[in-house]
Amino acid sequence: PTLPYDDNNLFAKILRGEIPSTKVYEDDWAYAFEDINPQAEIHTLVIPKGRYVSWDDFSTKASAEEIAGFVRAVGKVARDKGLVEPGYRMMANIGAHGGQEVPHLHVHIFGGQFLGPMIA
Ligand code: 5GP
Repeated sequence: PTLPYDDNNLFAKILRGEIPSTKVYEDDWAYAFEDINPQAEIHTLVIPKGRYVSWDDFSTKASAEEIAGFVRAVGKVARDKGLVEPGYRMMANIGAHGGQEVPHLHVHIFGGQFLGPMIA
């Protein structure tokens, strides 16, 4: 099982506005902001507003409305960034083996350039 949610994790603080971030999009279910250390021309993070550490947490505990809202928000961010036609990559690191650094579920959106094959 994943760790209990820590209300003092970095992205919880970003959601509460205690740490500044460059906002890209926000609605009832999701908040999107630019990654502080971009790994591609475009590198945006999308997080659910709910308190979910992992995909397991989110997919088992979030309501259907929250899940749909979050999935649509990820899609909207990519669309609004003009990434649909050229293509992009979305990724989530989960847990220790996934190299997850911040224990609030987040989806990375990479784009704005040819990304090549996926590197594990
Ligand atoms: P993870 O490794 O957990 O999948 O991704 C964490 C991401 O958060 C990394 O890409 C890292 O650059 C980003 N990050 C870490 N600290 C901050 C911060 O204070 N602000 C923003 N905007 N991004 C951060």
